[in-house]
Amino acid sequence: EQKNTSNRTPAIFSNELQQKVVDSQSILEGLQHATERRQLYLCYQPIISAKDSTSWSFEALLRWDFNGRLIGPDQFIPLAEKSGLIKEIGAWVLNRACMDASQWQYAHNAAVSVNVSIIQLMDDSFIRALDNALRSSGLDPERLHLEITESIFVDNKIKIKQQLEAIQARKIQVSIDDFGTGYSSLSQLQTLSVNQVKIDKSFIDNMDNNGEAIIRATLFIASELNCKTVAEGVESLAQAQALTAMGVDYLQGFYFAKPMRNEQLIQWQNPINDITCESLDVK
Ligand code: C2E
Ligand code: MG
Ligand code: MG
Ligand code: MG
Repeated sequence: EQKNTSNRTPAIFSNELQQKVVDSQSILEGLQHATERRQLYLCYQPIISAKDSTSWSFEALLRWDFNGRLIGPDQFIPLAEKSGLIKEIGAWVLNRACMDASQWQYAHNAAVSVNVSIIQLMDDSFIRALDNALRSSGLDPERLHLEITESIFVDNKIKIKQQLEAIQARKIQVSIDDFGTGYSSLSQLQTLSVNQVKIDKSFIDNMDNNGEAIIRATLFIASELNCKTVAEGVESLAQAQALTAMGVDYLQGFYFAKPMRNEQLIQWQNPINDITCESLDVK
């Protein structure tokens, strides 16, 4: 890569593109200090059992308040991955999530699901970071789930397999996130052992068309492989009922709850149980 020695902006950059480049530079600089300045926090979104409407897990979703400007993980996680900051941030997320979950006394059976970037997973210090988070929080490893986005399972399959084995040897569960959107979904399932697949929101959105066929096919494969299934991005009662009837194990989405701060979770827990049990008509 060549450095541009002049200070002039190359003419090829549109204003919009230039703005984006500047943005990502200032975002990256801000991100370097975000953990020490306590600007990062986690929100949790429930994942509900379709069978009995209990909370099965809460997914930790990272939030960044950059001096009053809320920046979404889709914007800063890729930058953190490129710069290597993801290791530090990821370790912080693991610790925080395990610590919070260890204190969820009102939901003592619920797990916490933590998103893990491939860069983080492939790092030699990852298993140590996991052990640290479990040890310092005292969280039962069976209550920790790791979500790994399938589109990233591309390189170094052997190392990925070893890491997943080390994770599962600790009784921590592994989910494939955004299942069906990568170009090698099925071959992943052939070579890697996973505990859950999370069916991507795009198929749920498209249930009236071909989405349903793809969901049914995924459910069949998952059951043959002894994997549990989670539907992501459930936004309506009709979707929740249709997915439950199809046999999806767990449901997650704005219909049940948006991601919320840990403090809000305590107040949320009980009411939704009643609402969902009734409206899903499963009791
Ligand atoms: P994801 O893991 O697939 O998470 C689901 C995303 O969909 C979340 O967006 C969630 O807020 C959103 N969502 C949930 N239910 C609904 C719904 O019913 N409708 C709609 N429209 N959206 C819904 P969010 O929080 O912006 O996170 C985006 C992505 O950023 C995540 O996708 C995940 O890949 C990544 N991410 C978030 N937190 C972390 C983290 O701590 N570490 C890493 N490595 N990645 C993270
Ligand atoms: Mg996820
Ligand atoms: Mg997802
Ligand atoms: Mg996603």
